[in-house]
Amino acid sequence: MLYDPERRWWPQAACRGHPPGEFFADGGGTPDKPPSADAQALWNEAKKICHGCPVMHQCRRDTLGEEYGVWGGYDQRERYLIRQTLPKAAKKWPPERRLAWGRALSVYRDRDPAVPWIEIRRLTGVSAGLAEELVTEWRAHLKAEGARRAKILSLPEPIPTRQGEPPFPEARGRLDAWVRHNGLVADGYYQGETADGLWLLMNVHSGKSRVRKWVRREDVKFHDPKPALIMEYEGRPDRARDEEPAA
Ligand code: SF4
Repeated sequence: MLYDPERRWWPQAACRGHPPGEFFADGGGTPDKPPSADAQALWNEAKKICHGCPVMHQCRRDTLGEEYGVWGGYDQRERYLIRQTLPKAAKKWPPERRLAWGRALSVYRDRDPAVPWIEIRRLTGVSAGLAEELVTEWRAHLKAEGARRAKILSLPEPIPTRQGEPPFPEARGRLDAWVRHNGLVADGYYQGETADGLWLLMNVHSGKSRVRKWVRREDVKFHDPKPALIMEYEGRPDRARDEEPAA
């Protein structure tokens, strides 16, 4: 796993039950300055606990953005120095690693409202500038991938539904979204959308049937925000786009 924002390793942490003062010493100062000798001595003891911790690797991976104290065997100054080197190191990451980070970070940006870049830095340790760069790369990749996949799409034109009918349930469904389909509301998952965002490609699960179809955006209710995957293809539903739903 690249990164676990929920820190599911926490129940196995060796520091549970230790007084916080052992890991967050007074006199630690700010992360960009060396700590006092007393704080450093205390942190060195805390690091010994980390080095015997069964989840040190996962903790180190997920706490790079923590400002203060000892986490994952690193003190706050060590994490600060690692964060400083990250933009340069990221230039040498293989493309798949850059994309994986872009994808992970875009989840924060796709929330409504979007998580500020500076907050993303605090959560992940990835600087605002680098995070923006990686998310931009990921979105460009999605767009290119959508165009590539579009070549294999051959779907019937969508059938418009009556506006606002039937209403969506309040409860969440099993998949990504509720979809109006054949006069009913069914579970569906998102596969992409047209560049203008008016039509969504959804895989609709209704009873035992599974159908991939284009539906108007207003006929879809997502349970969580989705990053857009742009689909461009021959035979897109332009002709139907301006038609009003059948009364
Ligand atoms: S590595 Fe250290 S800070 Fe992280 S969970 Fe283990 S003991 Fe706690």
